[in-house]
Amino acid sequence: MSETSTSAADGPDGVASPFRERLAFDLDVDICVVGAGLAGLTVAREAARLGASVAVLEGRQVGWNASGHHLGTVMPGFGLPVADLIERVGLEDARELWALSKEGAEYVRATATEELMPGIGYSEGVLEVSNVDVGEALIGRLQMLAEDFATEVEGWQVDRVRSMLRTGRYFHGIHYPKAFQIDGRKYVHGLADLATRAGARIFEDTPVVSIDFSGIRKRIVTPSARLRAGHIVLAGNVHLGAPLKRLSDTLLPVWRYAALTEPLGERLAETIAFSGSVTDSDGIDHFRIVGGDRLLWASPETTWDARPQRFGAAVQRRIATMFPQLGKVPIVEVFGGAVGVTVHGMPQIGQLRRGLWVASGFGRQGLNTSAAAGQLIARSILWGDDRWRLFSPFELVWAGGATGRVAGHFVSLWTRGASSAAGVLARYREGARARERSREARLAEANLKAGTRGPIGRPPPGAVRLAPPRAPAPVPDDEPYPHASRESERIPGGPV
Ligand SMILES: Cc1cc2nc3c(=O)[nH]c(=O)nc-3n(C[C@H](O)[C@H](O)[C@H](O)COP(=O)(O)OP(=O)(O)OC[C@H]3O[C@@H](n4cnc5c(N)ncnc54)[C@H](O)[C@@H]3O)c2cc1C
Repeated sequence: MSETSTSAADGPDGVASPFRERLAFDLDVDICVVGAGLAGLTVAREAARLGASVAVLEGRQVGWNASGHHLGTVMPGFGLPVADLIERVGLEDARELWALSKEGAEYVRATATEELMPGIGYSEGVLEVSNVDVGEALIGRLQMLAEDFATEVEGWQVDRVRSMLRTGRYFHGIHYPKAFQIDGRKYVHGLADLATRAGARIFEDTPVVSIDFSGIRKRIVTPSARLRAGHIVLAGNVHLGAPLKRLSDTLLPVWRYAALTEPLGERLAETIAFSGSVTDSDGIDHFRIVGGDRLLWASPETTWDARPQRFGAAVQRRIATMFPQLGKVPIVEVFGGAVGVTVHGMPQIGQLRRGLWVASGFGRQGLNTSAAAGQLIARSILWGDDRWRLFSPFELVWAGGATGRVAGHFVSLWTRGASSAAGVLARYREGARARERSREARLAEANLKAGTRGPIGRPPPGAVRLAPPRAPAPVPDDEPYPHASRESERIPGGPV
């Protein structure tokens, strides 16, 4: 097992990961799903519920990669910003795609209930905050989401954001009162359990090494058995490898890391009063309070596989940068997983050739989108629902191989650096405005004392001339451009 991911059974939350056997005998099924992550398990559950015989082949364990190591925030939408989506496919199709993304979120909401998944820890409210002062742009986006995309959103002014998050780093915010969060590890294992109860058979430690796609019944080869299936769903994400290397090459793998702090006591509530998830509009930080007074925080990224433990200190520094009053917080666990980022930022959902389906490329926003994919593909196979065609404009584009990863690395450096620089500038402007206001107040007071009602800012004749204000010093930034990027590597395109 790669060190990127820890087994779900190892998690501090003690999520049970039942032993599932390896496939050791030949099998004939309606649908063979490759990969037991969120996407594969949702397809399997839905297809089994609709009456198909389903086998899921997982090379390692259920939720081994990103699906067992995420933050559990569920929002509508895709990695591709909504304005870009409209530009790409037009308003009508963008609306339909957005509606599918909402259906995906509703699927998770209906599945992640206490009844079906005890201890799932469902809570509502997600806040997307801006690193820069963009009030006007925000209003346009709010209107578009509310009116054109029927999504419940609230615009929060800077004061409101800062009353919830005690930092000068964030400005305006978009509050999604109906977006929600759940325990990510419990969800993937709960999903596997529900798929099994619906009749799907899940085999672990069973990598698919090759597939013969020709013919009506496709042949799947694993090290210890062979399968025949009418349909194959490739849900292996960036690790799919040999069975269809060309498909893996259309994904840029991005390893994202998150850390959990020790209990931080009351100082955490004094610093962060918002109980839901917080993401920033540049997709750099994503955090929330868990277990009362611990902080769960995702931020660092690499375009290569690295030990998550290496990134504990980076998360620690990031928290201290955003909330200096918390200081250097003790970290108890660091974890991570690889997400597959497509060139266009949209997931890969659809039929590649007769009977061969793909569900991958969910990027940093995989909960709602993989749920949408699972439902769509199961219904397409069994009911002939062809709404997956809405994803057709987003073709399989080669992600650039090793060169793509290097380019991704530099794009990431640039993005984080640019975000940090824009943040410094926004805070500088904010400081300058505050200083200007206080200068005007001082002048008004001086005018009053001098008994003149002259225009504010212009000294009355004969009055002592006040020294012009000094050029304001930039607001100190302990992680300014370009240093902010030292150990952070990301590619733009998603809110996780
Ligand atoms: C730190 C972090 C935080 C995140 N937070 C959020 C969040 O809050 N909200 C959100 O929406 N998204 C989040 N995400 C993204 C989300 O986790 C992913 O988009 C999603 O889990 C992808 O699911 P998947 O099923 O496509 O892939 P995977 O989880 O990678 O599953 C694919 C499975 O296929 C198996 N496999 C691959 N090839 C083969 C083969 N040849 N044979 C057999 N098996 C194979 C693999 O072993 C793997 O288990 C986060 C991701 C990370 C890393």
